[in-house]
Amino acid sequence: MASELNPFTIAKARIAKAAKALGLDAATTELLSTPQREVWVALPVKMDDGTTKIFQGFRVQYNTARGPAKGGIRWFPTETIDTVRALACWMTWKTSVVDIPLGGGKGGIICDPKSLSTTEKERLARAYIRAIAPLIGITKDVPAPDVYTNGQIMAWMMDEYEKIQMECHPGVITGKPLALGGSQGRGDATARGGIYTVRECAKAYGIDLKGKTCAIQGFGNAGQFAATLAQDILGMKVVAASDSKGGVYIEGGVEAQKLVDYKLANGSLKGFPGAKEITNEELLGLEVTVLFPAALENTITKENAGNLKCQIICELANGPTTPEADEIIDAKGIHLIPDYLANAGGVTVSYFEQVQNAQNYYWELEDVQKRLDQKMTNAFKAVYEMSVEKKTSLREAAYLVAIKRVADAMKLRGWV
Ligand code: NAD
Repeated sequence: MASELNPFTIAKARIAKAAKALGLDAATTELLSTPQREVWVALPVKMDDGTTKIFQGFRVQYNTARGPAKGGIRWFPTETIDTVRALACWMTWKTSVVDIPLGGGKGGIICDPKSLSTTEKERLARAYIRAIAPLIGITKDVPAPDVYTNGQIMAWMMDEYEKIQMECHPGVITGKPLALGGSQGRGDATARGGIYTVRECAKAYGIDLKGKTCAIQGFGNAGQFAATLAQDILGMKVVAASDSKGGVYIEGGVEAQKLVDYKLANGSLKGFPGAKEITNEELLGLEVTVLFPAALENTITKENAGNLKCQIICELANGPTTPEADEIIDAKGIHLIPDYLANAGGVTVSYFEQVQNAQNYYWELEDVQKRLDQKMTNAFKAVYEMSVEKKTSLREAAYLVAIKRVADAMKLRGWV
């Protein structure tokens, strides 16, 4: 892989920049740029046709200075250790920026989940846990769902771990179904957390949101909840949304739930009554108060950033903005809430799930939402204050806040 495209090379460049701004010493910078532990595992799995297939998996515990590693398990045909390593690094900053007492981790299995039967998936899930069981647990590393893994897979994994330990350990994995110790409020947590940061961002910069417009690029899980919550919590009007097949624009706004119902019933937004069809590029250039990129990485680029006319960008997707586009956005004075702050609501409620599992006592939905609001509000404030102090963008400030907390924890432990 060319080094400029290697995700871990990019992650290390970010660390180096933040370390310089924070005045960190060489050993601290080196340790921040180095995964603490990586495990490669071979997973023999009996297939339904009687053959045995060997899968390869990884688990990276990037940094545990602030607490046990935390991060999802991806099942992906082209998974690489560099991607898993970069994502584990990124989880370290994400748990740090929202100030939850966890470190960063990530796991992956090279496989094509679409070609596996349910029984093969179950055997693969259990094989992975048998291989990494000594390394995980509530005091070590707590995995969760990610790309192509879900609550059912987490349930099998938790069960396998409990069989090995011969004890109940619901907190070993989060993202479990409610019936097995999952948390209330996990479903919309990512979008809800993002909405809270938009509210705080608007307050900080004196922007009025009530009755103002928003557009959502990517109308899947995160995007649909962003639409209904922008309306319900912020009092905004949803005027546009898009998916991979294109977008719609509704002059004057639309009841968000109607748009969600239409998308769920028809599989796309095409043909929504009273809407004008627009392209994804047109959606990005709409004059709206808030733009939510909630689809894929690299959608706001140096080619289209010049057309942006919004006041706030809330990055619900991971990595939707390229570094060149960042510079254009800064120059235009648009306030961009960076991805690992904007979409940290999911991992925050995963942490709440762990806490509830440990207490063996479960909170009401309102409790979960109130605590999530507190965490996201505090996180935004810390990042905003750092951006004022250091005169940087919110993205740079988020790195400074997160990396400083991890560096401080390493120093207090005497690691560096
Ligand atoms: P999803 O698969 O439910 O939805 C993605 C949506 O994007 C789909 O509607 C798809 O049609 C649309 N899309 C794909 N290509 C597009 C394009 N070129 N233009 C416009 N739309 C396009 O996924 P999701 O769970 O909503 O996740 C969306 C993003 O948010 C991802 O980057 C993901 O990593 C990030 N994220 C999600 C969560 C979560 O809890 N769901 C947590 C953290 C980060």
